[in-house]
Amino acid sequence: MKFSAPKRTIELRQTNRQAILRLLMLGGPMSRLELGQKTGLSMGTITNVTGPLLEAGILRETGTEESEGGRPRSILGINPLYGYLIGVDVGENHIQLELFNLSLEKLGTVRRRLHSQENLPEVYITEIASGLDELCAATGVLQEKILGMGIGVPGVVEHDGQVNVAAPMWAWNSIGFLAMIERQISLPVYIDNGAKAMALAEFWFGAGRGAQDVVVALIGTGIGAGVITKGELYRGATNSAGEWGHTKIVLDGRPCRCGSQGCIEAYAGAPGILASLHELNGTAMVDGEQFNQITKLVEDCRNGDEDSRQALQRTARYLGAGIANLANLFNPERVVLGGWVGLMIGETIMPNLKEYVRQYALPPSSARLEIMLCQFGQDAICTGAACLVIEEFLSANQKFSRRVAG
Ligand SMILES: [Zn+2]
Repeated sequence: MKFSAPKRTIELRQTNRQAILRLLMLGGPMSRLELGQKTGLSMGTITNVTGPLLEAGILRETGTEESEGGRPRSILGINPLYGYLIGVDVGENHIQLELFNLSLEKLGTVRRRLHSQENLPEVYITEIASGLDELCAATGVLQEKILGMGIGVPGVVEHDGQVNVAAPMWAWNSIGFLAMIERQISLPVYIDNGAKAMALAEFWFGAGRGAQDVVVALIGTGIGAGVITKGELYRGATNSAGEWGHTKIVLDGRPCRCGSQGCIEAYAGAPGILASLHELNGTAMVDGEQFNQITKLVEDCRNGDEDSRQALQRTARYLGAGIANLANLFNPERVVLGGWVGLMIGETIMPNLKEYVRQYALPPSSARLEIMLCQFGQDAICTGAACLVIEEFLSANQKFSRRVAG
């Protein structure tokens, strides 16, 4: 009679395996002894779990360290060449793909600009498929070695039986984007909101590292947030949590792209900041590159232009109110400011921003709150999207479990 391990034993083995992989992936190489100390598992269990992972090539010995009186101990780490990850940033007027090894070292990038009229899902999918071929050709990485592709999109990604994307500014109304892309690409694909993807990257490898309760605020053309509570990304009932950009800060205020009024995005997203400037200097809004206009606004402010200074001060006040609301709701230890606008204005507005948060938040919610800038730059969403694949790799329910032996 064939012996099979009871279900509970298999689950326990799986849990131990994920705990060890998570420690090595996020904490870097360490000895079996240190793994035992950090997980509380016995040395026997550590050896039983790491053995098959070493055999499968997921782990490798990266060196040795001296031990007191005994043989040198080997140091174990993730094998960066075991598999590769693709991170995709689907932006409002660009698409960027990056290829990483399993240690999240970037090996290649493809970036293409798209016109704002080219926002049909089919256009993005065609660009992603050809970008993937281009990346593989440029780096010599075979598609069979890619563990998965993560995609960060600017809309709400509903996980409600299927994975649908709702992006009102593109008139995407719960489009089955995942099913569409899986018909074109033979890789496991994971899609999430760009702010959530970026939050994972900052939390694991960037400014949120070491904390347990973190909010990563993405300030770009639109605004979003990724909320991490007790070390896990908070998703809500259908993955729509973190739509901070559409919380109201002015009743009956400016119209927002979501169809409502008075959302923080309408005041502190790039078009909102520019609207504040034009209200102050009495000029009409001009079409054109928001990136260049925000760059100029920050430069003008540094050069002493009063309207620019006031526009940024208003932005700091709106964001301060928004962050105080986040502090009152979630009591994070850190709020990390990112996104291209966040990166551009962050340093200039930081002193005002901190003061407004202190004024608007309840003291117990904000007493230990640190506000800081993100560590990943303009490619934070690609890195975050690759982290969506790592999140699956570290979870028990891997879509690509067949690809990962052991
Ligand atoms: Zn809105």
